[in-house]
Amino acid sequence: MLAIRAANLFYDSCLALLYPQACAVCGDSVESRTLGVACERCWQATQIFTGNETVCWKCGAVSGGVVSPEQREEVRCRRCDADSFTVARAGGTYEGALRASVLALKREPHVCNKLVELLVNVQQQHPLSQATRIVPVPLHKEREQARGFNQAGIVGLALARAVSLPIDEISLKRTEHTTRHRAGMDARDRRESVENAFAVSYPALIAGERILLIDDVFTSGATVSACAKVLLQAGAADVFVLTIARPLPY
Ligand SMILES: [Zn+2]
Ligand SMILES: [Zn+2]
Repeated sequence: MLAIRAANLFYDSCLALLYPQACAVCGDSVESRTLGVACERCWQATQIFTGNETVCWKCGAVSGGVVSPEQREEVRCRRCDADSFTVARAGGTYEGALRASVLALKREPHVCNKLVELLVNVQQQHPLSQATRIVPVPLHKEREQARGFNQAGIVGLALARAVSLPIDEISLKRTEHTTRHRAGMDARDRRESVENAFAVSYPALIAGERILLIDDVFTSGATVSACAKVLLQAGAADVFVLTIARPLPY
């Protein structure tokens, strides 16, 4: 097993030498295919969450203060009070290598090892570790057909394989075609535009499950909250959200 892994890493390094790819952030060459579209230095300059940061226990916003381990679950930012999900976590800050990886995923359905590793690390922490089923945030059918794939589905699948959880891409549907991140939309506009955009097609598959809802970026939380609402109405016991990245609080 170790020998195979070492051989794969060697093969990846050889490929990177033969076909150097320019880092999507700084333009230097990417040392290994396992790093995806960014080089080692840009990954190191990107804030990856370790799980030791002080965050709003519910939405995962970094709060910056220091609290005792017993108080960690009491920390709240209060901006997420109305959101339906149980908790939300992200792999890191939407900047540098993570931002470049998210953007690359919209063009190419490939999740590099580096990204899988950091998502597995977040998923294995309490309470996301209790998830029983992975559900990616769906795209509207027309948008998925135009792109050829759903990037949240690709991430969900890579994670499902890595942590041996079932993936469910049929129960949650996007029923309305919403315009995501339209310029000039504030948080309330975004919330209203996605509020009724989702429905659960197979409640029997959701009832009693502790759902791990996957999306690429946690922006206002409106999309994942709208998904969580219908999943909980369908009988889900919990909805934990995991996104690749989230922007710094503004
Ligand atoms: Zn770079
Ligand atoms: Zn919060």
